[in-house]
Amino acid sequence: MADAGPVIIVGASMGGLRTAEALRRASYAGPVTVIGEEPHAPYNRPPLSKDVLSTGVSHEAVAFPARAATADVEWMLGAPVVSADLGARTVTTNDGREHPWRALVIATGLRSRRLDFPAITGRHCVRTLDDAMALRDELVPGARVVVVGAGFIGCEVAATARKLGCEVAIVAPGAEPLIRSLGAQLGAELRRRHEAHGVTFHLGRTVSAMLGEFEFGGLQLDNGEIVLGDVLVEAIGSECNREWLDATDLDLSDGVLADSALRAVSTDGTAHHDVFVVGDVARFPNLLFDEVPRRVEHWNIPTDTGKRAGAVLGAWLARDGSFGEVVARGFTPMPAFWSNQFEVSVQAYGLPALNDGDIRTLQGDLSGAVAIGYYRADHLVGVVGLGLKAELLPYRQEIAAHAAGGLT
Ligand SMILES: Cc1cc2nc3c(=O)[nH]c(=O)nc-3n(C[C@H](O)[C@H](O)[C@H](O)COP(=O)(O)OP(=O)(O)OC[C@H]3O[C@@H](n4cnc5c(N)ncnc54)[C@H](O)[C@@H]3O)c2cc1C
Repeated sequence: MADAGPVIIVGASMGGLRTAEALRRASYAGPVTVIGEEPHAPYNRPPLSKDVLSTGVSHEAVAFPARAATADVEWMLGAPVVSADLGARTVTTNDGREHPWRALVIATGLRSRRLDFPAITGRHCVRTLDDAMALRDELVPGARVVVVGAGFIGCEVAATARKLGCEVAIVAPGAEPLIRSLGAQLGAELRRRHEAHGVTFHLGRTVSAMLGEFEFGGLQLDNGEIVLGDVLVEAIGSECNREWLDATDLDLSDGVLADSALRAVSTDGTAHHDVFVVGDVARFPNLLFDEVPRRVEHWNIPTDTGKRAGAVLGAWLARDGSFGEVVARGFTPMPAFWSNQFEVSVQAYGLPALNDGDIRTLQGDLSGAVAIGYYRADHLVGVVGLGLKAELLPYRQEIAAHAAGGLT
């Protein structure tokens, strides 16, 4: 029955919350149920590796404010969904209960990838509030912290741990930190700034063994070097939470494929009109750049995809003739990212990683505030600023100017 049951949102995440809010804005007044694996109502993750990790981690410190529009949403927390049946329109939680839905929103995001070693105490990652609380307890002055991975989360945790008085070493396979996201030039500058604060780097290295039978004692690297430590932070990337969809016909080749209306797409290319995907787990085309579907793990994407999915689903449920017009509006969100590491603030727009090797200094210089532009086929596709904010807005506009039809 198409109209039976609530809209079910799986994932009590930022993307899930923003979708629920957008559904109400689209005048959908029917039932909405959010089913989430974590015991917490939706909260903001970026502070978990930054200020909150150093000042005091609690749900109150990071929770999103509840809005009146979603006061009647039903929350089922601490209830992981284990499977979905798109034909029968149900999801099943780990207690065996089946939940019927009239529309389904997939908002299950990511989890941290882990090193393939036995579980011992002292191993950490930072994805959830509970992760951050467990790590915070161990970041005491003098603790030797080894961070594996030199992406944003690894570098941020390293900076926070150093500020808390820990000895910090970063181990990573790349030639510079953040090299995949920002290129070698900015990566080298960020390394220099970390080193000035006493962080040590083991770059171009992988981990060959973990020391310690019951408690983490350090790492052996692929060149035989030993890095002793008390606390291990694994910041080696993420994996998509999509196994609960394995029995469906959805294209799960990298996250969950969606069309530009955020409708989930099957392996045969058909879009489901009643199944939507939002947030980090969504792989969708963005005509700001081209028609290639990509996942984008930036904070603004759960909000932008949630708004878009809520508007399209709201129009479909309204059956008032607005659906075609809402879908035709198009969807070209501008990826935006920021990071804080020591005194350095990083702000980025667009998709710098799309550059074809053409990277230009747009203003300033590396020793102070600087804006770096990333180009593809001579068009600006991304900009990253160190110590700059408003100064980046003209570059943001330049990237957005290509929205009509992409760059091809
Ligand atoms: C430590 C950290 C720092 C970050 N810093 C920045 C930053 O500075 N700037 C920036 O732009 N972005 C940052 N990000 C990225 C940003 O926080 C994410 O893009 C955003 O949280 C993604 O939201 P989401 O809605 O896709 O889902 P998520 O936040 O991944 O939440 C998904 C939720 O779904 C739940 N779930 C998973 N599987 C199931 C299931 N089967 N059943 C029920 N529930 C399930 C999960 O438990 C989780 O609660 C950071 C992320 C982290 C972890």
